[in-house]
Amino acid sequence: LEDAVRHADRLSTLGTLAAGLAHEIKNPLGGIKGAAQLLEMELPPESELRDNVRVVVREVDRVNRIVEELLALSSPRKLQLTKVNLHKILGDIVTLRKRATEGKSVTFQQQFDPSIPPILADEGLLTQLFLNLIKNAVEAVDERGTIRVASRVLSDYSMTPKGERRSRMVAVDVRDDGPGIPREQLEQLFTPFFTTKAKGTGLGLAICQKIVTEHRGMLKVESDPGTGTTFTVMLPLIQ
Ligand code: ADP
Ligand code: MG
Repeated sequence: LEDAVRHADRLSTLGTLAAGLAHEIKNPLGGIKGAAQLLEMELPPESELRDNVRVVVREVDRVNRIVEELLALSSPRKLQLTKVNLHKILGDIVTLRKRATEGKSVTFQQQFDPSIPPILADEGLLTQLFLNLIKNAVEAVDERGTIRVASRVLSDYSMTPKGERRSRMVAVDVRDDGPGIPREQLEQLFTPFFTTKAKGTGLGLAICQKIVTEHRGMLKVESDPGTGTTFTVMLPLIQ
């Protein structure tokens, strides 16, 4: 128990530190970005320096994103539990993503089990969770692809690693027909900073894992190189 308390204590210190650091980094970044944008406006339209200034703005945005994601990963939060409608969250994200498919032709399919009642969860965190998974799916598919989001009730009773009985669970599958994930990478996916993308942060799935664990759920991945990938989020139906 003492170990657990010390661990939790260290984590919360880290979280406070990260929050402070994030603040300290974000303020100057805002200054840099603002100055760069002013500079861009001052430059004559034909100036070759414009490209460089745009790089500054873009990279500032990138550092901002990394800082925010690190903050999400390291800070302990209290879940804001309310009854949330999973299908509404998923539908909203799909609608949003349809407009941001990075120039690809992506077909979204939704198949929801209407018998699933609202679940007790943190709406903001669940939104972040499914947004990350669907964003990864969009990034994975080629020029043309299909992403399927489906919900179902898991009727079997499974055991937690500690041998406790779980209540009924709801499962949400996010499936894409992208290139899939090589077997040797499957284990590293959830490790912070693991990324195969030139501009990736490698923090998305680590955040997903954290959110699912905080909700006493499970996150699984199944992938067939060449066929596609399915991420499955399982959440307790009755909490
Ligand atoms: P990032 O998206 O910034 O790279 P993530 O933690 O979200 O970080 O994902 C980590 C890595 O997992 C990705 O770089 C990619 O290699 C792999 N990955 C995640 N989702 C998929 C997917 N749907 N299909 C194929 N690979 C994926
Ligand atoms: Mg990602």
